[in-house]
Amino acid sequence: MSTFDLIIRNGQVVTAESTAQADIAIKDGKIQKVAATIEETAVKEIDAKGLHVFPGVIDTHVHFNEPGRSEWEGLATGSRSLAKGGATSFFDMPLNSTPPVINKENLQAKSDLADEKSVVNPFYWGGLVPENIDKLKELDENGVIGFKAFMSPSGIEDFNNADDETLYKGMKEIASFNSILAVHAESTVICDQLATEKIAQGKTSARDFVESRPIISEIEAVRRVISYAEATGCKLHVVHASSRKVTDLINEAKKRGVDASVETCAHYLALTVKDLEEKGGLAKCAPPLRDSEEVEQLWVALANGEIDMIASDHSPAPADMKTVTDNFFEGWGGISGAQSTLNVLLTEGYHKRNLPLEKIVEVTAVNPAKRFGLEGKGSLAEGFDADITLVNLDESFELKAEDLLYRHQHSPYVGKTFKGNVKTTIVNGEVVYDHGEIVVGK
Ligand SMILES: [Zn+2]
Repeated sequence: MSTFDLIIRNGQVVTAESTAQADIAIKDGKIQKVAATIEETAVKEIDAKGLHVFPGVIDTHVHFNEPGRSEWEGLATGSRSLAKGGATSFFDMPLNSTPPVINKENLQAKSDLADEKSVVNPFYWGGLVPENIDKLKELDENGVIGFKAFMSPSGIEDFNNADDETLYKGMKEIASFNSILAVHAESTVICDQLATEKIAQGKTSARDFVESRPIISEIEAVRRVISYAEATGCKLHVVHASSRKVTDLINEAKKRGVDASVETCAHYLALTVKDLEEKGGLAKCAPPLRDSEEVEQLWVALANGEIDMIASDHSPAPADMKTVTDNFFEGWGGISGAQSTLNVLLTEGYHKRNLPLEKIVEVTAVNPAKRFGLEGKGSLAEGFDADITLVNLDESFELKAEDLLYRHQHSPYVGKTFKGNVKTTIVNGEVVYDHGEIVVGK
């Protein structure tokens, strides 16, 4: 009789500390043993010779829009695209779904659907909006991994942005039960004024849109929310920083003892304003894409350990909402990228800029698990959940629209050649994606 359920043999196992050949044995969804050679047998064995074995990516920032807006994406399609891209867990944002996750009933409605439809591990952000400060505790007690607030309009009518009073009171409340607040940090005042001016002058190009949401708008908002974090003691997480000037602020705050962390997204590392000009709405997001000097500085920050994690901020919409003709202020802002995060980091980071594989593991798995308290996730070690992705680092492929498992098969990465291809994804010990096919939940 076999001792284990699954053994992955002969792969190069990547952890935050090192990369070395090892076998991994799995039973009951957990890693039981990691050793140079495992003598025992398993019901199923995978020969990973020539492949690298990564902890599954934990995507801390996606918008799957279900329930209520699943014509934009959905838990089934969204989670399958993650599995194909090597991700094994996601944190779904509280807005975009209708109703939004601003109380425990709405959380329950979403988690029931995810239990039924998701092929990877679902986790949930709760919302902080002006109307729900008295519901934050119940959301925490029902298992949200933290809270999300917008400092500028979210674009979703039933998810209001948090004014200063809401932020201050909300952060005090969140600190009282030791949870964490994630913020979309852009200044409403700055963005609104600049957009109004631009539009009044008929200036609506891609460059005009970008100039209406300048880096100073992020800097102003981040400074403000850091001051609330200091005053309230609330743990703070800044999502989608688009510039090293922003990540610098969080690192300075950390040095002063503020409990803060920062995320950037694959698209700020791979795309520029030029892509927005060329690809139109497909590359529109907020904060917007920046110029190539900013992109390079973000890579430096990442290599230096100044960025805690990389997420996709997968924020999809039907194609007709992404069609920008001449007015870049129109059309939905949000990039479809959940399937491509690891591809971007391997191609643009590891292959092009010598970013160590260990660093990629740190920012896609180890740090997210630690920061948000996911026990048993984020590492390939004995006792951890068997969330694993097998990658051929040297295999190149051109991303085609028909390869995307999103509800709407579009992405600014279509047409891009990636080096480093996910071959197999394992979630809690079960193979969910294998050589081009989703193999569970059909
Ligand atoms: Zn987002």
